[in-house]
Amino acid sequence: MSYNENNVFAKIIRNEIPCNKVYEDDYCLAFHDVNPAAPIHILVIPKGPYSSFDNFCSNGSSDEISSFFKGVSNVITKLNLPNGYRIITNSGIDGCQTVNHFHIHILAGERLGPLVVQDNHHK
Ligand code: 5GP
Repeated sequence: MSYNENNVFAKIIRNEIPCNKVYEDDYCLAFHDVNPAAPIHILVIPKGPYSSFDNFCSNGSSDEISSFFKGVSNVITKLNLPNGYRIITNSGIDGCQTVNHFHIHILAGERLGPLVVQDNHHK
């Protein structure tokens, strides 16, 4: 998937639209999801123009990659989640990705249930 500079997270990075920020450093920005799927739902994005996890890991510099994941960890520390959390990244059509800028979801604050919606489709 090629990168589209007009995606909402690119606009948040450029300060064209607001976000409810929880953390920022040179490489990443973390903010509340506008439509939370759990009591705590934070998105962490790299500041560079990467469309997905694999695109980021293939094309990001070592500094960007290591600093980004350290940033995700810093956010989790800052949130203070003694009962745990889940991190997710969706990619492409099958992953149901809706925003064309790599992001990690941090979900927490309740027992989150199964990894994916259960059906008998592939059993
Ligand atoms: P995806 O479906 O791509 O994995 O996740 C995109 C997430 O971005 C969704 O959970 C959606 O609620 C969130 N989102 C979409 N637009 C905005 C926005 O303008 N601001 C914020 N804070 N979150 C957004």
